[in-house]
Amino acid sequence: MNLIQPAQRRFHFAVAVIGVLALLFATEGCSTAKTAPPTTAPPQRRDLAAMKAQQAALTPSQVLELLRRGNERFASGKPEPRDMLHDRQTTAAGQYPQAVILSCIDSRAPAETIFDAGLGDLFNARIAGNIADADLVGSMEFACAVSGAKLVLVMGHTSCGAIKGACDHVQLGNLTGLLQKIEPAVVSVHDVPGNRNSKNTAFVEAVSEANVRLTVQRIRDLSPILRDMEKAQKIQITGCIYDLATGRVQFLSSNPQ
Ligand SMILES: [Zn+2]
Repeated sequence: MNLIQPAQRRFHFAVAVIGVLALLFATEGCSTAKTAPPTTAPPQRRDLAAMKAQQAALTPSQVLELLRRGNERFASGKPEPRDMLHDRQTTAAGQYPQAVILSCIDSRAPAETIFDAGLGDLFNARIAGNIADADLVGSMEFACAVSGAKLVLVMGHTSCGAIKGACDHVQLGNLTGLLQKIEPAVVSVHDVPGNRNSKNTAFVEAVSEANVRLTVQRIRDLSPILRDMEKAQKIQITGCIYDLATGRVQFLSSNPQ
């Protein structure tokens, strides 16, 4: 049984409408009084021919510098405005990415976001613990030798669950075999005092960096094509660590070729 009479209902409705309108006007008044007009720059309009020319002109170290600047924009909360609809339509006809990034599947470490990159800027290969195998290296050969990317960047990150799992010698289905590929990095770390497991944060981060360096070397070992391109200075293969807390990427000094 409905205890509210029609007249009462109309009254309640009117009160609710007045309340909402009052709230809207109050909000508008606040925003007008306290907020300056938006001054953000219009989104850049990307052009496929320009992207092709830029990819051809860039050196590997210039690509690294572009990533460094993109990460600075991301970390400081000032990403470039983008017109994704325009970019999607433009890049549908082709792609000229500048780098291929091998990174972890961690949901907090998406490479395009971290480097404030747009559609068509980066190849992105992701696997838990950012390890390299023949299939991933084949993908990198496509990216560099066929599609013209100038940089291979292996990106580890802080608090990596895969690295922690490797430190603890976790066994779980197919993950067991994957974590065993991180084992050489676990074994290689000798200079961190304390426990050699995931409870020791310093140990975990040292293993993460060692894993990136070993993966860089493994890419060279698995791919004569990429190795030769690097020797000819057509590409660079290097690594970095992404800090989940600060949003900043620390590029590692280049491993000897
Ligand atoms: Zn991870």
